[in-house]
Amino acid sequence: MSNVLVLAEHMGGKLRKVTLSTITFAREAAKLTGGQVYVLVLGQNVSGIVAEAAAGGADKVFFEDSAVFANYLAENYTPAIVKVAQDQGVGIICGAASTFGKDLVPRVAAKFNAGMVSDAIAIWDDGGIKFKRPLWAGNVLTTVEVTTPVKAVTVRTTEFDPIEGASPCATEAVSTGVGASDSAQFVNFDQVKSDRPELTDAAVVVAGGRGLKSGENFGMIMELADSLNGAVGASRAAVDSGYAPNDWQIGQTGKVVAPNLYFAVAISGAIQHLAGMKGSKCIVAINTNAEAPIFQVADYGLVADAFEAVPAITQKIKAL
Ligand code: FAD
Repeated sequence: MSNVLVLAEHMGGKLRKVTLSTITFAREAAKLTGGQVYVLVLGQNVSGIVAEAAAGGADKVFFEDSAVFANYLAENYTPAIVKVAQDQGVGIICGAASTFGKDLVPRVAAKFNAGMVSDAIAIWDDGGIKFKRPLWAGNVLTTVEVTTPVKAVTVRTTEFDPIEGASPCATEAVSTGVGASDSAQFVNFDQVKSDRPELTDAAVVVAGGRGLKSGENFGMIMELADSLNGAVGASRAAVDSGYAPNDWQIGQTGKVVAPNLYFAVAISGAIQHLAGMKGSKCIVAINTNAEAPIFQVADYGLVADAFEAVPAITQKIKAL
């Protein structure tokens, strides 16, 4: 029996939704190990975040409220995670396959000499704990067995819905004794300020492609997104053309999203783009070319000029 530890990710005093999805994965893992699901929150003034995590369906939330963790720094987080994992008999350590998880989980794995799986989409036991993970823009699914006593995993959170309606679990303050690292120091965090929801957390995403022909034309994409309280995304071709910022890119080399509603506007639907959005619950494609591959994955397809269709849809939504 070993326990499963979820590394909580938070930003601006709020728990990231990807952590809740990671807890769902951890519940699957704990069924196999026969252990408990724990969440670890590191930060400063984290009581609100701890409360959010405690309602996420875990068995216990451990937290350390300390100035050392006021800003995320892997050099400070790693020894604290190692200490808690050792103290709590943890066999599987998991985080979201986000920028945070990709930075942190491999470092923790290295400290335990643990086998590591990236982007896990399934876990099962058929005489050994195995994981499924996508490769090559999702065109290949591989099965990975991890045989080390401690296993480290980043989770593709779009595959796991948060647990709804869980009763709040127990919380416990810990003191790991970790001090500020000598080797690295937090200097500054340049955050792009936006009132829109974070792309990977949003229930609605409106994405634009190269067919929009300019950055200014993304204005109508933003207006449609705002009418639905959604986030704005872009194809890589739109980003490379300078129409949209880098952090809007969705796809194999961008962000992976799975909102309830995804608008692909003037996006052809190359496999590398589909790799980042095909898990969306409902896909609406607007494209002038009826043969565009995006229509093969769309639930609703509109063969139309985006410059006419998008403002018309926005107007209808605003009128509701
Ligand atoms: P285009 O392919 O140029 O398509 C534009 C579309 O707009 C066309 O379908 C056209 O019919 C339509 N259109 C034009 N005018 C209008 C109009 N007025 N109204 C409506 N529709 C219109 N791509 C990603 O998106 N994300 C990634 O992460 C990514 N990673 C990659 C990684 C690698 C290793 C490689 C090789 C490629 C990657 N790509 C990625 C690029 C990918 O292959 C495509 O080139 C890219 O997705 C195309 O973007 P697009 O659909 O916006 O542009």
